[in-house]
Amino acid sequence: MGTLDIVESVEDLRRTVASARGAGPAAVGFVPTMGALHDGHAELIRRARSACDVVVVSCYVNPLQFGPAEDLDRYPRTPDEDARIVLEAGGDVLWRPTDTTMYAGGLGDAVVVRTGRIGDVLEGASRPGHFDGVATIVAKLLAAVAPDVLYLGEKDFQQLAVVRKIVSELLLPVEVRGVPIVREPDGLARSSRNAYLAPEEREAAVSLSRALHAASASVEAGVRDPGAVVAAATDVLDGAGPLVRSDYVALVHPDTLEPLERIGDAAVLLLAARVGSTRLIDNLRLLPRDHHATRTEVQP
Ligand code: AMP
Repeated sequence: MGTLDIVESVEDLRRTVASARGAGPAAVGFVPTMGALHDGHAELIRRARSACDVVVVSCYVNPLQFGPAEDLDRYPRTPDEDARIVLEAGGDVLWRPTDTTMYAGGLGDAVVVRTGRIGDVLEGASRPGHFDGVATIVAKLLAAVAPDVLYLGEKDFQQLAVVRKIVSELLLPVEVRGVPIVREPDGLARSSRNAYLAPEEREAAVSLSRALHAASASVEAGVRDPGAVVAAATDVLDGAGPLVRSDYVALVHPDTLEPLERIGDAAVLLLAARVGSTRLIDNLRLLPRDHHATRTEVQP
């Protein structure tokens, strides 16, 4: 195992990354996170390690992407465990900026990157302003780290689409790579927010991946009408008992996130649901039978 440099200021970050880059050509991989790391984050770091010379991880709970009624204050914070996971997964530099560094003039007067329509639908409709907060912090983190490759999880599918758009439109010189969802053995997508779930909620939360699986099974059985595919998933969530309340289930194109009129070569089913008071998201690409070789599996 290598060593891990933990830095706080942008100056220390830049100096450390520059010295890790060295004199020759070196690829810097970057994994931005909000901490409370788990194996999903570790997978992003491992991917970066296997492809890049220098691996930078940031842990920063970005206040600008939380709504006033959201869980900013109670968001889990596990700094010691985070450092251990980053080191074990192969990170070289762990950057933990402060709010003063990221929003020097205060949140109310911050420069904000607006995403346009792609950030206003689905998660954006339930969480107004969320993706402007995401776009803003990602632009700042990229400006500070200046990586060659940015690693993001497909778990936050819309976030990945939003970041691809801002990287393209702001002409940011970085390659964006999406990493498939890491799941628990029963199919639940790993998430820092799973820590909020009481035991009976944890059990009920498996209904999200089951709903995706039901929709996928309907496509495999030949269903091509988006309404029927969405209904297959919604039925599972609705039948999961009083702890689970569906927020949305949507079948969309993976690049544009626009609703599909028919299932073709590219389709992704996105869903969000509350389990108790915890809001969880999940998604699965759905492909007709002849595309099975590239399909991502979830547990039944
Ligand atoms: P977060 O700390 O939740 O903001 O997540 C940081 C990064 O890790 C984002 O790119 C997420 O999409 C990614 N991530 C979180 N959970 C998972 C997971 N279960 N599988 C793959 N990537 C994940």
